[in-house]
Amino acid sequence: MIRRGQAFRPFSGGGRRTIVAIFLTFALIGALSAGLSLSATERSKNRATVLQVADRQRTLAERYVKEVLLAHAGLQANPASTASILASSAHALLDGGIAPAVDGDDDESTLPAASGKVLRNQFEQESRLVSDMAANGEAVLSRRPASTLPATANEHTGNLDPIQRLRVLAALTSNVSLNAGRTIARSTDQNVSRLITMQVGLGVGGLVISLLLAWALIATTRRQTAHFRSLAQSSHDLVVVLGAGGCRYVSPSVAALVGRPQSLLFGEGFEEFVHPDDRDVLGTVRTHGGPPELSLRVRNASGEWRHLDARATDLRADRHLKGVVINARDTTDRVRLEQELTAQARRDSFGSKLSEALEMADEEEAVFEVAERAMFETSEATPMELLLADSSRANLKRVARSPGAAAPGCPVKSPYSCVAVRRGSAVVFDSSEVLNACPKLRDRPGGPCSAVCVPVSFMGRSLGVLHTTGPIGTPLQGEQVARLTTLAAQTGARIGTVRAFEKTQLQASTDGLTGLDNRRKLGKQLRGIIKDGDPFALAIADLDHFKQLNDAHGHETGDRALRLFAQVMHGVLRDNDLVARWGGEEFVIVLPQLDRFQAVIVLDRIRRNLAKAHPGETPRFTASFGVTDSTQAESLEQLMLTADGGLYAAKQAGRDRTTIGEPSTESHSPIVIDDLESATPARRGRPSLHEAVDDEDPHPSGLEIR
Ligand code: GH3
Ligand code: MG
Ligand code: MG
Repeated sequence: MIRRGQAFRPFSGGGRRTIVAIFLTFALIGALSAGLSLSATERSKNRATVLQVADRQRTLAERYVKEVLLAHAGLQANPASTASILASSAHALLDGGIAPAVDGDDDESTLPAASGKVLRNQFEQESRLVSDMAANGEAVLSRRPASTLPATANEHTGNLDPIQRLRVLAALTSNVSLNAGRTIARSTDQNVSRLITMQVGLGVGGLVISLLLAWALIATTRRQTAHFRSLAQSSHDLVVVLGAGGCRYVSPSVAALVGRPQSLLFGEGFEEFVHPDDRDVLGTVRTHGGPPELSLRVRNASGEWRHLDARATDLRADRHLKGVVINARDTTDRVRLEQELTAQARRDSFGSKLSEALEMADEEEAVFEVAERAMFETSEATPMELLLADSSRANLKRVARSPGAAAPGCPVKSPYSCVAVRRGSAVVFDSSEVLNACPKLRDRPGGPCSAVCVPVSFMGRSLGVLHTTGPIGTPLQGEQVARLTTLAAQTGARIGTVRAFEKTQLQASTDGLTGLDNRRKLGKQLRGIIKDGDPFALAIADLDHFKQLNDAHGHETGDRALRLFAQVMHGVLRDNDLVARWGGEEFVIVLPQLDRFQAVIVLDRIRRNLAKAHPGETPRFTASFGVTDSTQAESLEQLMLTADGGLYAAKQAGRDRTTIGEPSTESHSPIVIDDLESATPARRGRPSLHEAVDDEDPHPSGLEIR
């Protein structure tokens, strides 16, 4: 447990109490001394009066004798008055009271009672002598004999006559008064000596007490100073005092921060460590005492800028300080955290905006466009490009570049020659000239450079790389690299998604065996043509005796024959012609802008090319076509029926030919696009187009199927 005396109390009021005690001591000693002096003076004053009255008794005694003698001789005198004054004065000297005035001589005096045994005896004796003398005086005046006179003072006057006796009594009275005066003088001397001794004692005592208190005060002050010093030295708070001539004080913590001794920071010394952009505000604080709150950046011993939050207190008017006190605290960690959070928020915002933009890009081209805008937002002036592997995955091709700057032009050929792709993470090259720089950065037309390369991948598969270059030694940093990483990751993910979607779309619209469009795709395209009202010819093709081919050579040979037929058609048809595998070995061909007669020419060319084709191991085969055009029917169903009728006729006529279908006389509803699926006939004595792809055939034909 810490004793109270040892407790660390830098702000205790002990010092103040000591000072108060010193003052009280001085005041007490002064008061005592003054009191003693006053009482001594007072006593001296009374004693002087007593002495004067006692001395007057001597004179009065002699005067009384003379007056008695004068009166005895018949002359004018008033001894009775003098006797009365003598008696009153003797009484006053003994017991205190008023000593009457002597006419024309002095004033009446108030006396204290006599103190001290000797003095009282002397005054009692005097009183008795005065009484005897007055009786003696009266006896002289009345001429009585001396033997009748009292001797209360135990005086032995023998056989003296009354006048002589009167003289003796007067002399005795005078003598006793003189002795009393001496006694009083002696007592006064003793009092003065005692007073001196007491004054000296008081002085010495007061001095000793004051010295002790002063020592205690000094000790307390020292302890407090030491406490404050240790507080100041060990405190992390930074204290700077700025005065007219610059820095006037820095705390040890400031010296420790900048790594310089305190003495070198005075004057302009401290300012050298302040960030140039913050020196103005420091100057304002020094000259105007404010602003009360400010932020400073100070370079520390390792050359790093530390952020300080500071408060300025204007004490220029304080005569002890005459300056502005700056109390500061190092908030670098907090500032960095805030910056990091802000950067993170900006990155998140960039990431979410990018994500939203990419969500709207449903084709690769649109993804590249978004990537270019994001490049511009990341850094307008930095050359950037997005390189993606082609379908063979052997070559990298530039698909996007920053709109604000030229493409850096990375010469890397294949994804696996790229360092970033191989490492699977972003790489930053400060300089193309250092030993461990990417070799593809060297000898670029723009000269030496820095670079940041971020791989682009989707589900672990490398798609390409995001490549940027910059001035040598200053590649993109922190947040921008983070943005590039976000851009690469999101672009990769979107490209992967778009590709997967396109693949699915393709699969859904393509016939897997021949690569031709399937019935659904053709239906969609046909809807467009019909909607536009464009004329077109429509043909249905069916391979001849295909069942036999399958049976004789196997299903795989049949498949090869189907693929060959698709290739032949593809070679003959125009880009805007449509062809789809409708099902089995049946195909539908749409020839926009052609009528049925022009279509026959095209279809015959297909047959001719099929005959000329080199089928390899596939045996030769032929195909039959039924054809019509959009002028021949009012509905798609009717159109299909007509074409199918033509096909049927071609088969009937011996196959390997093209026959124009005759429109049916049955009335049909107008061409309705959605009818396509049910537009194929089921009534021509052979399986319909519809049935060929529909297992749930509700129409058993019962007809010849070869
Ligand atoms: P026709 O000349 O009268 O048309 O005689 P055909 O034998 O060709 O008769 P049909 O058109 O009715 O025969 C269709 C045959 O096509 C039945 C089936 O074995 C065959 N086939 C259908 N789809 C495929 C396929 O994808 N691959 C193979 N190899 N054969 C198929
Ligand atoms: Mg068939
Ligand atoms: Mg057939």
